[in-house]
Amino acid sequence: MVDLNGIIENFLANPTTQAFMRTVALYMTGLYLATVFWAARDAASRIFDRRLVVLLTLLAAVPFIGMALYILIRPSRTLAETREAELASHALDAELARTPRCPSCDAPAELDWRYCAHCSAVLTHSCPSCSKTVRSGWTACPFCATELGVRGWRLEPELTTVPRTA
Ligand SMILES: [Zn+2]
Ligand SMILES: [Zn+2]
Repeated sequence: MVDLNGIIENFLANPTTQAFMRTVALYMTGLYLATVFWAARDAASRIFDRRLVVLLTLLAAVPFIGMALYILIRPSRTLAETREAELASHALDAELARTPRCPSCDAPAELDWRYCAHCSAVLTHSCPSCSKTVRSGWTACPFCATELGVRGWRLEPELTTVPRTA
């Protein structure tokens, strides 16, 4: 008859076994503390509200399931990334605001285009006096001060459109 209990007791009482189990326990504890610490740092980088950071860290500290739940519900962007995205969006808005637009269809138009690429509205002419490019809607040539409006070139709000060539 094999004394199974005796074997297990001997095994557990063995100093090598105990040392091994202590090492494993220490390792697991260290790993656990490290993940909780990581969650706290990660939450702080993603959430402005400190109370929420503490709450989520406590959630992440729940063994096994906590970390998975934390990863699921944490904000996808860090605060720095959110700020960066906001800045990029503002920069894009500013860029769009600076881009000249066709007064007829509001499509982006380059300053030196003669016609709108989208609706064929006349965008620029040559000044009859100095031949420099002047934009539709200008009342005077900014280069030689010739009045443009008197020549019937004030095209806004009705813009002259040239027929599209098929
Ligand atoms: Zn247009
Ligand atoms: Zn001029």
